Amino acid sequence: MKSLIIGVAMAALGLPLSPAVADAPSPDPLPPLAAPESVTATQAGQNVAVNWTPITGATSYTATANTGQSCTTSEATCLVTGLLPRVSYTFTVTAADATRSATSLPSAAVFVRARLAAPIVDADRVLVGRSMRGREIWAIRQGNPLAVNVLLSVGQMHGSEPAGLRVTDRIRAKEVPADADYQLWTIRSMNPDGAVRSNRYNARGVDLNRNFPGTWARQYRTGSGPASEPETRVMMRFLRKLSPTGVLSFHQPWDTTLSVCDKRSADWVRLSARLMGLKPPGTPSNCGSWLPGTMNRWTARNTNAWFVTVELPPSYKAAPAIPRAAKAVITIAQRMAVADRPPVTPTPTVIPTPTATP
Ligand SMILES: [Zn+2]
Repeated sequence: MKSLIIGVAMAALGLPLSPAVADAPSPDPLPPLAAPESVTATQAGQNVAVNWTPITGATSYTATANTGQSCTTSEATCLVTGLLPRVSYTFTVTAADATRSATSLPSAAVFVRARLAAPIVDADRVLVGRSMRGREIWAIRQGNPLAVNVLLSVGQMHGSEPAGLRVTDRIRAKEVPADADYQLWTIRSMNPDGAVRSNRYNARGVDLNRNFPGTWARQYRTGSGPASEPETRVMMRFLRKLSPTGVLSFHQPWDTTLSVCDKRSADWVRLSARLMGLKPPGTPSNCGSWLPGTMNRWTARNTNAWFVTVELPPSYKAAPAIPRAAKAVITIAQRMAVADRPPVTPTPTVIPTPTATP
């Protein structure tokens, strides 16, 4: 009776009647879907397949890596792509349906030490590219083509520094078992035009170790711009394609090892010096952070690799260092594989349910 009077009064005032006045119960919003359960994640080549138990009413699911890569599907499985090899990831899955605006809470996170296969290079000899004068730059593989761990050794960047060429020849003469835990790639010289003239620079007079992008600066012999030289560009392309675990780049004559002083490279720069009988690396003075356009800084920023610049002694006293360095490269490849062995339980492990908010 009371509401009728109010209604009449509102109508008299020209106000619209609210539906609430009719005492209709307002519909409760649908609760969000439950979080997906029984999530598993397994390595599938260079990708990770994520699976879960379907939820009644769900029309789509999204599996997301902690680094942001994701896949969306109406099925109970999908493949997350675009992941880097040799990185650990966690994955969560959310469910959604067409009638609810909110997606479900994320599932429990699933951890995968994603020992994803390195990008597959299906040949043991790869033409990296050509120099300014058209000379071929080749990369040769030894070891196990399917191994996840990949070491790249670059014998020469500066044509006036020949010791690394001889190190490379010795490495290539060694027997590396095809069932090794690693792939060992060697490039004899990435500056063949400089090599034939015993000249530090490429055919255009550019220092290739000042020509890489990211930290490039217009200075003496750094080139007309970042990656202006063909040798730089083909090495960038190859490093991205190979996605090595580690890179050794041979130079002379400082008789020590250098790195960009990143955490990833720290152990390797010390180990390399010790195994090769070179002076221990001094830090931080050897970080080279004042040098523009170096290959090690580009590699550190653009790949997942550690990087060691090996400075062999000057040529007049490099002879004893050469066989020792070649042996050390093999040892480093072996150590690298051991360091990256999977945990004792390689199957995916579920870690506790996250306290995620909707
Ligand atoms: Zn050099």
